[in-house]
Amino acid sequence: MPMSGATQQQLVILGATGSIGANTLDVVARHPDRYSVFALTANRDVERMAHLCLRFSPRYAVMANEDAANELRKKLRAESCPTEVLGGARALSGVACEPEVDAVMAAIVGAAGLTPTFDAVCAGKKVLLANKEALVMSGRLFMDAVAAADACLLPIDSEHNAIFQSLPDDYRRDPEAAGVRRILLTGSGGPFRNASLAQLETVTPEDACNHPVWNMGRKISVDSATLMNKGLEVIEARWLFGVSASQIEVVIHPQSIIHSMVDYVDGSVVAQLGNPDMRVPIAHALAWPQRIASGVSALDFFGIGAMSFERPDPERFPCLDLAYRALEAGGDAPATLNAANEESVQAFLDRRIGFRRIAEIIAATLERAPRQEVETLDAVLEADIRAREIARDEIGKRSAP
Ligand code: NDP
Repeated sequence: MPMSGATQQQLVILGATGSIGANTLDVVARHPDRYSVFALTANRDVERMAHLCLRFSPRYAVMANEDAANELRKKLRAESCPTEVLGGARALSGVACEPEVDAVMAAIVGAAGLTPTFDAVCAGKKVLLANKEALVMSGRLFMDAVAAADACLLPIDSEHNAIFQSLPDDYRRDPEAAGVRRILLTGSGGPFRNASLAQLETVTPEDACNHPVWNMGRKISVDSATLMNKGLEVIEARWLFGVSASQIEVVIHPQSIIHSMVDYVDGSVVAQLGNPDMRVPIAHALAWPQRIASGVSALDFFGIGAMSFERPDPERFPCLDLAYRALEAGGDAPATLNAANEESVQAFLDRRIGFRRIAEIIAATLERAPRQEVETLDAVLEADIRAREIARDEIGKRSAP
């Protein structure tokens, strides 16, 4: 149904060629009356970007990689596509901050997304945050920027979106009055939930990326397998909802039907449920405070039958505790954790190290990196560089010859 009298929202999708990008464009394509694609961005995937430009006709397409931008330009010219192609990382921020832009989907993977996401926040945009690494790295600075620019920050991570939906509307104005006792962050447990320590020694990148519930990019798939994804989400929840680390509890829920819960002081627990499909939180955040169809079918409780809950196992999955430790250490420790994780996950995906080395390398990097306070985005980016150098050294010590 067309929106009466309302204008189309102009969207920028940072990370358009990825899994979240694809799900976002799927929802957007269902509502051409509401949304228009202003810009799409990617790093190197020219084929996919060319396809998206021909389908969605954005005003701009940005490739962070300059060679990829040149290649895309030639391709689109040959197809007479009017989309203007820009190249380089600075252009990511450029399109996100354009005055015509209403909302920015922040779906670049990893630290590469920090600067454009932060810049979109500072420009006061409505920012739909999938790129959890940006908030993990910059924490308080990020939330201060949201407040200073009066930006609208909406979580896309299904857990945080569920918590957002389970909190009262005026929560951010008066969090004390809400009476939140705990945030219960649910997680599927990943592909290795039942694997033994011995089995974890020999798992491959293909095993790790074969998630039982979610179909995601390779980096977050490995994070789900180590439970670092849950660890990053604990840090993300701390900043999004202003709760302490001790108020956030992780609950393994293999069916992934409950996407997270809020436990209140009166004993009430409020949860958000739905089929595990990222189009649900994406549609929620795009239309908030209204609701729109996402293309996801209604939940079939009789098909689900039963739901179960477990504690995470710190011995097999030490990354979760490492994240709690980094959060408690504060300063640049979460940025160090994130950088060491990105480096070691890439080394695992490249088959340079085994799966269990990921946590060892992160622990060693946290141990060696000097902990410092961070007052500026540059200081965060410097901590990221420092931690990557240490992590690469630790990876070198453990790499197969
Ligand atoms: P993908 O790997 O599928 O996609 C990543 C996107 O980021 C691609 O468009 C990629 O471009 C782009 N990109 C990668 N490196 C750079 C760079 N250096 N500069 C600019 N762009 C870059 O990741 P996902 O979609 O799975 O995840 C994206 C984010 O969303 C992550 O932070 C993840 O944690 C979060 N998230 C994902 C969920 C999911 O279901 N997938 C669920 C919840 C959160 P190219 O294709 O050209 O490489």
